[in-house]
Formats: sequence, structure tokens, C-alpha cells
Amino acid sequence: MTSTGPRIITVANQKGGVGKTTTAINLATALAAIGERVLIVDLDPQGNASTGLGIDRRDRAVSSYDVLTGQLDLEAAAMPTAVPGLSIVPSTLDLLGIEMEIASAPDRVLRLRNAIHASDKFSYVLIDCPPSLNLLTLNSMAAADSVLVPLQCEFFALEGLSQLLETVEQVRGSINPALSIQGIVLTMFDGRNNLANQVVQDVRAYMGDKVYETIIPRNVRVSEAPSYGKPAILYDLKCSGSQAYLQLASEVIRRERQLRAA
Ligand code: ADP
Ligand code: MG
Repeated sequence: MTSTGPRIITVANQKGGVGKTTTAINLATALAAIGERVLIVDLDPQGNASTGLGIDRRDRAVSSYDVLTGQLDLEAAAMPTAVPGLSIVPSTLDLLGIEMEIASAPDRVLRLRNAIHASDKFSYVLIDCPPSLNLLTLNSMAAADSVLVPLQCEFFALEGLSQLLETVEQVRGSINPALSIQGIVLTMFDGRNNLANQVVQDVRAYMGDKVYETIIPRNVRVSEAPSYGKPAILYDLKCSGSQAYLQLASEVIRRERQLRAA
């Protein structure tokens, strides 16, 4: 990978509701706020990242489906958002059928990678994955420099993580040897809950320094923001969730510098 291309981070976990979309949106916003040219690629047919950034379903004339089928290049499929410096390739329900449509194409896993590498408009590309280890998630891992894994602070948080890490290993061993783990972020932490504290200890014991120091607290302002079509960081910068996401962004940037230098 050339050092002039965008840094590509995929936000993945095959569990739903762990904070992937919230993390992608707020991290992207924080990066845009410091002057990066950021693109989110919404690879989830549910389109929560698109909705959460104020792109109404009716207004999605272009989508990640068009990119994966080769009908549009990355820049043509990108729409501006209300966040300066942040664009999004929205998703539509067409994505539900993509697996069958491109199943027999030899380059089916490389569609997104090729599209991203053909563009030099962005300095960061963040990919919001569906809750599945399907062809869409594989496309994201084939394209990415690193994987960022949100884990919800609840019982069974670690369940499924080994399968996810195995998939990363498989992608590394085949189509993308340079793929690394950006880090694991603990989300929706509630300090009043003893179990949540235990989960934090367990995850740190198991995954060591792969786990970011920043923990994202459960915060009602964060959960309200998407219904206003805004990232939490724009909706309420001062709330604990937004502040944690800013702190996470600085950790991610620090690690990106290390990964880039390696
Ligand atoms: P995923 O993309 O993994 O399915 P989401 O980011 O959509 O997960 O989060 C699942 C739900 O939890 C959403 O309704 C979201 O608004 C809410 N949520 C995410 N992070 C937080 C948080 N830190 N505090 C409160 N609610 C959150
Ligand atoms: Mg999501």
C-alpha cells in the first residue's frame, strides 16, 4: 500500500447493536474536525450510518451497491453530509442481494478495495460493516489497513471475538497480508453495573494492549443523536459520550501513525 493513499479502517463485529455505527460516525466526525478528508462507506443494508448522518432513504440516489457492482466509482457514489469534510457512500436495501449477484465474479472480495484505491480524494475511509461475517465484511477487510472492533460491555462480550479474529487471520493469510487490528473499543459502559466492570477486566486480560484506554460510556445523548441525523459530537459536544469519542479519536490517530511507520 502506498503511503499517499487513504488510511482505511473497517469497523467490524458480527454482533449487532455493539456500537459499530455509532463509533464509525463519531470517529469520522472527529477526524473531519481536525481537517482530514473523510469518507464513510455504509456497507450495512440497514443503512444506519446513512440515516445517522442525515441522509434520508429517499435521497439516496447513489449507494455502496453501485460501487460493489462496478456501476459507479467511489467519488461518484459519495454524498456530502452536514459535517464539513465528511462524505458518505450511503447504503440501500439493494445490498441485501449483492452476495448472490457477485458470487461468481473472480474479484468479488476485491470490489471495494479496487474502488477505494482508484480514488485519491480522501485521507481516511471508515467502513461501517453489517452484523455478519459475510461477503460485505470480507470486502471491507480486503480493502482495509486495519480493523476496529467495538465490544459492548455486557455478559458474552467476548463471545464471537475469536471467530472475528480468525476471519482477520484468514484475510491476512490470503488477500490482504497488511491487515492489522487497529484496536478494540469497549462501548456502552455503565460504571454502576458490577458486571460491566468485570467485563472490562476480562477483555483487558484477554486482549491486552489491543484494547484502547478510552472506554465509551452509555450515554442517552449518544443514543438520541441519530434521530436528529447528527453525530453525537455535533448534537452535544459536551456530553460524556462525545468527549469519550474525541479521546478515542486521538488514540486511533496515535496508532495510525505507528502502523504507518511500521
Ligand atoms: P451496531 O452498529 O453495532 O449495530 P449501533 O452503533 O447502531 O450498533 O448501536 C446500537 C444502539 O445503541 C443504537 O441505538 C445506538 O444509538 C445505541 N448506542 C450506541 N452507543 C451508545 C452509547 N455510548 N450510549 C448509549 N447508546 C448507545
Ligand atoms: Mg450498525
